Amino acid sequence: MTEVIRSTANRCAGQRKDGTPCDAAVMGAGTLCYAHDPARAAERDQARRKGGENSATRARLDRLVPATLRGMIADLLEAMSDVRAGTLDPRQASALAALGGVVTRAYSVGILESRIEALEQQQEGSKST
Ligand SMILES: [Zn+2]
Repeated sequence: MTEVIRSTANRCAGQRKDGTPCDAAVMGAGTLCYAHDPARAAERDQARRKGGENSATRARLDRLVPATLRGMIADLLEAMSDVRAGTLDPRQASALAALGGVVTRAYSVGILESRIEALEQQQEGSKST
């Protein structure tokens, strides 16, 4: 019984955009939830900006990393979590990291080669005109 009274007392007094009561839980003192409390507007803005920055950085990285390497990066990130969780032998993870390094270096060389080739062709083209 006490539990029911306490939970209704801790519901947000704000309204949703459609005009219905918010009904979200209120943490700590006050009558408004995180989303409706005007005192936390700056905090909400900062969190929103940070979220935007993170997704923009991620999108930029996704564009820069060749599609063939993305799967490997995902595997290596997973391996890191597995080592941390104790479900993967750190020696196995080291072997994966070493192989990943070799693959990445090979790609880097290939990418540099193709960029140099493009620059050389560009230069050849400008000489003849
Ligand atoms: Zn609310």
